[in-house]
Amino acid sequence: MKCREYIFQLTSGQMEEAGTAGKIAAWQHRMICFRCRAFTRNDQALQDMLKGYSEHLQTPPNPPAKPSSEN
Ligand SMILES: [Zn+2]
Repeated sequence: MKCREYIFQLTSGQMEEAGTAGKIAAWQHRMICFRCRAFTRNDQALQDMLKGYSEHLQTPPNPPAKPSSEN
């Protein structure tokens, strides 16, 4: 597996669909490639951040108070 393939699988969400062989290949690649290891860590941190952010977005905002008169 090449870095490009690994990153594509990771970022496109195909890691889950890769099956056991694909997961082992990805795991082996992480073991030998520190860059992809670091990227995976960053990616997971990013996913967590995005998850927290989307939860934040889903909380309904207070309706803005309408000004009674505007000049
Ligand atoms: Zn790599």
